[in-house]
Amino acid sequence: MDYLLTEEQKMIRDLAHKIAEEKIRPVAAKYDQSEEYPWDVIKVIAASDLFGLFIPEEYGGLGTNVLNLCLATEEFSRACGGIAVCYAASALGTFPIVLFGNDAQKKKYLPDLAKGKKVAAFAITEPEAGSDASAIKTVAKKEGKHYVLNGLKHFITNGGDAETYVVIVMTDKTKGARGASAFILEKGMPGFTFGKKEEKFGIRASSTRELVFTDCKVPEENLLAKEGMGFIVTMRTFDMSRPGVAAQALGIAQGALELAVKYAKERHQFGKSISTFQGIQWMLADMATEVEAARALVYATARMVDAGIKDVAKASAMAKMYASDVAMKVAVDALQIFGGYGYMRDYPIEKYVRDAKITQIYEGTNQIQKNIIALHLIREAAAR
Ligand SMILES: Cc1cc2nc3c(=O)[nH]c(=O)nc-3n(C[C@H](O)[C@H](O)[C@H](O)COP(=O)(O)OP(=O)(O)OC[C@H]3O[C@@H](n4cnc5c(N)ncnc54)[C@H](O)[C@@H]3O)c2cc1C
Repeated sequence: MDYLLTEEQKMIRDLAHKIAEEKIRPVAAKYDQSEEYPWDVIKVIAASDLFGLFIPEEYGGLGTNVLNLCLATEEFSRACGGIAVCYAASALGTFPIVLFGNDAQKKKYLPDLAKGKKVAAFAITEPEAGSDASAIKTVAKKEGKHYVLNGLKHFITNGGDAETYVVIVMTDKTKGARGASAFILEKGMPGFTFGKKEEKFGIRASSTRELVFTDCKVPEENLLAKEGMGFIVTMRTFDMSRPGVAAQALGIAQGALELAVKYAKERHQFGKSISTFQGIQWMLADMATEVEAARALVYATARMVDAGIKDVAKASAMAKMYASDVAMKVAVDALQIFGGYGYMRDYPIEKYVRDAKITQIYEGTNQIQKNIIALHLIREAAAR
């Protein structure tokens, strides 16, 4: 399919493709096993300036857009879903500052994030507040010119490795959802420590940790937007970042499909290449069509975001849900084409199944995406 990408978009996609093939694919299995943070690859991506794709030029970025971020994320994910999410999660932690930061906050934080000198993280989830984000218990109490934070966030991607954190906490519990606020935190702030590092099923190159706040003093100038806007910051951020999760899923699906086609051509049974069997060909045809449909949805959504269309929540939810379901199905089908070899760690395909699964869970499970889509459908019908 031709998505009529501009020369700039093709250049970014090709650069990300080169990094993925030369620097990510060769180390994907190593980081999957060791579960270490892939700093050497992060440095390569940083040197390419791709961390700054969507950050305005005046703050050290390339000033381009979300579609370019999706193209880079897709290419990285083709080679390794785990390393790609380290990159994508930094964008997730950076978007709130781009969208809601004041000039001083942007000047202070964005240049280092744009250059990849530091990576970012975004933290809302708590042990008892996952899909129901309004149940968060971490609090920030105003004391003079500081806020004092107490509580715990868990399952935070880039936790411990990131230097810059956007954290959503309650500043006024009596106001419910309107009582949450967003703060920018820095690694090393007194009272800000890291707890358990999770051992995961997939995306094992990425770190997933607890953030612990014990009388953590945060200067008042680190409040993002205004008190009470924490959930607005979160929702607007997710509208921008969900096409990126969808692109991650798309890349995983594309990578699994390519491996399946290659293996089908090479593997012989009954004296023939298994790619000559119609049963295999039809599986591959379905997989390729589903990947292309996901790509069309992801790119269209990213283009809507870039065009400044206001309400992209439904499209973002559709892209994230569909692309992640395709990633899971295509990865499982690809493993089936590998037969018994696909089940073994010596072959790269089982990792795609493990990496694909998370895309159906984080940044809102696919059940929650369905809720968002349905809510918009019903609202739209009522407004007609
Ligand atoms: C590897 C990993 C990385 C993550 N990274 C981050 C991060 O960087 N920052 C961050 O803040 N969070 C992060 N998360 C948290 C993630 O977003 C949550 O795990 C996710 O939103 C689901 O929350 P939960 O795990 O508490 O599941 P629950 O909310 O307990 O859901 C359990 C099940 O119930 C279903 N369910 C819940 N509510 C409904 C409903 N209303 N209707 C239908 N079904 C429902 C869910 O779909 C799911 O199947 C990460 C999680 C993981 C696993």
